[in-house]
Amino acid sequence: VADVWPREDKGPTQAAILQAMTATPVLLARLEAAVGGDAVLTDPAVLDGYRTDEAGIDAPRPAVAVVARSTADVQAVVRAAVEHRVPVVTRGAGTGLAGGANAREDAIVLLTRGLDRIVDIDEGNLTAEVDAGVITSALNAAVAARGLWYPPDPASIDTCTIGGNIATNAGGMCCLKYGVTGDFVLGLEVVLADGDVLRTGRTTMKGVAGYDLTRLFVGSEGTLGIVTRARLRLLPAPQPPATLVAAFPTVHAAGSAVVAATATGVRPSLLELMDRTTVAAVEEFAGSGLGDLDLGDAGALLLAQSDAGPAQAAYELDRLTAVCQAAGATATTSTTDPVQGEKLLAARRVAYTALQAKGATLLDDVAVPRPRIPELVERTEAIAAQHDLVIGTFGHIGDGNMHPTVVYDAADDAASRRARDAFDAIVETALDLGGTITGEHGVGLVKRSHLPGEIGPVGYRVHRAVKAALDPLDILNPGKAF
Ligand SMILES: Cc1cc2nc3c(=O)[nH]c(=O)nc-3n(C[C@H](O)[C@H](O)[C@H](O)COP(=O)(O)OP(=O)(O)OC[C@H]3O[C@@H](n4cnc5c(N)ncnc54)[C@H](O)[C@@H]3O)c2cc1C
Repeated sequence: VADVWPREDKGPTQAAILQAMTATPVLLARLEAAVGGDAVLTDPAVLDGYRTDEAGIDAPRPAVAVVARSTADVQAVVRAAVEHRVPVVTRGAGTGLAGGANAREDAIVLLTRGLDRIVDIDEGNLTAEVDAGVITSALNAAVAARGLWYPPDPASIDTCTIGGNIATNAGGMCCLKYGVTGDFVLGLEVVLADGDVLRTGRTTMKGVAGYDLTRLFVGSEGTLGIVTRARLRLLPAPQPPATLVAAFPTVHAAGSAVVAATATGVRPSLLELMDRTTVAAVEEFAGSGLGDLDLGDAGALLLAQSDAGPAQAAYELDRLTAVCQAAGATATTSTTDPVQGEKLLAARRVAYTALQAKGATLLDDVAVPRPRIPELVERTEAIAAQHDLVIGTFGHIGDGNMHPTVVYDAADDAASRRARDAFDAIVETALDLGGTITGEHGVGLVKRSHLPGEIGPVGYRVHRAVKAALDPLDILNPGKAF
């Protein structure tokens, strides 16, 4: 199988390896004394499970993995790592799509899954205090039982962790109306690179004392500190959503509908797009599940929801339907029944799986200003033709965040190289359109070489200065992000 990720995308491997290997027996003894022998994992078969995340970039087996069960455990691991000059790669559930949790030969992989307590749900203050290893859907279920809601909803919600969501500033389908993970983080407990514990943020809804250190750690991909606990903002439970699906002849027409919808003042809670290639892949994989809706030769499918409450949601869907028809929709269907609505959304939910069924995939994640989405999709189509590849584009059109997915034959070296070239060309296109190299998955390893192009030389210098101030020995997830 060809490897689309060359060595330079995988981060450094040689530095300090020899020293770390020599130190391993002493380091292991130190770790076992600190956290208990059962928490120090050295079985090669077990360690192989902690080599990579879901980005598909191969990585070496780590030197050791440690299950942390408390903040004190995390502190002990970091202090041992500092003493032995060994890197620490923090790993939540390993569902990341940027290679951020990928291991190195010389690394301790720190597993947060033992930090699994929902410490407090404060209904009066609408906050929850949660350990970093809590699975996101477990928090959702716990707050829902009290009539509350934690909105961030990455599609990996049943497996990913709150700590991983914070470290990547994860998004999802309802971010359009409610915001991303970072918008719900009020404060953090973080173990710093010297083992000290920093507590950031506040318990109040407002508060402006000092630098906003909470925001600094959100999205820092394990490179500045290890999140052990978070105080999160909650909302009252949402109203059941009403759902609309509209088929368009072109992505351009769907994009015009989105721009026009935004101008109406209607605030959909979900606005998703699938292009022609993705619609065809979904139909082939599962049938679209869209009942009587005639997709014909649909060039794009727009899916929208409103959770504005029974009467208002119906009104908002009527407005959106009218906007879609004015923009050239060839078919529309809508429902106020949430169960039927979920069936309509099924086509979007299987989009990535349907493209994966066609071959090996490189899932991209870029964002552009909303009005430029049609250009992004059209230029992606041109990149597909130029590189003789299939690229399906789907994603969160409401917030300009799309996932062009390159499909290729991994057994074909030339096709694999073209796939990687196409992936990079899409990232550069997003920048050219005034967008960003990643809307929600993070930089990790896959976008490392593109970061300077987005943040510029001064931005890069400031990033390096922040890293040097907080982690002068480069212990925390070195080689990731930049
Ligand atoms: C099927 C599928 C669907 C997905 N859908 C979405 C989606 O809709 N939206 C989205 O944004 N992402 C999505 N993702 C990507 C992924 O689930 C998110 O990036 C998620 O936030 C990662 O959480 P994790 O616990 O798996 O973190 P990991 O993959 O273990 O780690 C991710 C990064 O965070 C760091 N990290 C983890 N925990 C901590 C911590 N406690 N302190 C400091 N650093 C830490 C790691 O070092 C790494 O850099 C999807 C992934 C899959 C496989």
